Amino acid sequence: MTHQDPSFAPNGKLEDAISLLRHTPEKKSDLPRECPESGLGELATLELLSPYVIGEAAKLDAPEAFANMDPPTPWITWAIALWNARLNQNLLHPATAPFAIKAEQRVFDWLMPFFGMHGGHMCSGSTLANLTAIWAARDSKDVQRVVASQAAHLSIQKAARMLRLPIEVVPASKQGQLDTSQLGDVSDACLVLTAGTTATGEIDPLELIGQARWTHVDAAWGGPLRLSSTHFHKLAGIEGADSVAVSAHKLLMQPKDSALVMFRDPELANSAISFGGGYLTTPNIGVQGSRGAAAISLLATLLALGRAGIAERIDRVMEMANQLAEKLRADENIELLAMPKTGVTVFRPRNFDTDGIHAKLPSGMFSTCVIEDERWLRSVAANPLADIDLIVTTIKEAVRG
Ligand SMILES: *Cc1c(COP(=O)(O)O)cnc(C)c1O
Repeated sequence: MTHQDPSFAPNGKLEDAISLLRHTPEKKSDLPRECPESGLGELATLELLSPYVIGEAAKLDAPEAFANMDPPTPWITWAIALWNARLNQNLLHPATAPFAIKAEQRVFDWLMPFFGMHGGHMCSGSTLANLTAIWAARDSKDVQRVVASQAAHLSIQKAARMLRLPIEVVPASKQGQLDTSQLGDVSDACLVLTAGTTATGEIDPLELIGQARWTHVDAAWGGPLRLSSTHFHKLAGIEGADSVAVSAHKLLMQPKDSALVMFRDPELANSAISFGGGYLTTPNIGVQGSRGAAAISLLATLLALGRAGIAERIDRVMEMANQLAEKLRADENIELLAMPKTGVTVFRPRNFDTDGIHAKLPSGMFSTCVIEDERWLRSVAANPLADIDLIVTTIKEAVRG
């Protein structure tokens, strides 16, 4: 006997969900305190939730949104997210995800040449991509420690702690670049270089690749610059790394959770991070077990926009960061840390009232960061729809008082 269950058959109601994206109603009721005993039904639930989920969300595509590394997403990814949820494929099991696995392979075939890598897999973010790469380094090359600059992302500290590897923190310049003169012998180490540091967007000297037993490049933020012929050169040398992490949910404009961990020698790396099991037809590679078809969204984005379309958006946001920095530098009331290398602009008012200015600016326009124990304002170019003139005018007004 087959079951008729309307919760699995939307019968045209998905269109209502989509129209709620466009017209979000006012809040009518509070969220119930208790888990309801009997369900509200789908449409009533969507109407209840949309003022919260959609109404209260930060608008990452707003003209003033320039604070964080989270981009707005091209609408092709919304459509694929719906398809993916409908199908719920699991890349752990080839039988449930025949096309999703091919899609991931195709995306890697297309993107890996930009990084000189030869294999890898997707995972939910660069925190996991970094952990996976350092795990592969430890268990395939027996690295004894992790060496990274003080400006490296906290996920490097986490990975070292979880893997019980000692970590040596190398000083960085004020702009956040690893100070090569402070780097000792790394022949027994996994050296982590960052391409696009979180606080200031700096790029560590990639000439250091090749000195350590394993070099991992954390290109979570800066990696996609490789797709741009204007910015490609900034990551010159990355192709010599042993592994590279890129967050696709940053400059590749993917919905979370989407990142790539790539290896120069995937056979070697995978031998260290693969597990078989009675119920698995192929080994489980990496940290995650079940994982979704994030690759299909990335594949669709690359198909819809092309390499040039992605590069054009990346160039656009980098150019906006440049304009912002130029204009702030020309203002006598503002101190600019440095011209942005990867779209992160760091500055502060000369009267040092960083927090006061931050409070005056629209939320979403700036975040703050700490450099050498001092607070700075930081803006991050992830939104191709930003209005940089509006942003500059707003800052200048806030700083002038
Ligand atoms: C964002 C970021 C990470 C962490 O990536 P998630 O995708 O947030 O897990 C690691 N390193 C750098 C340099 C980053 O910018």
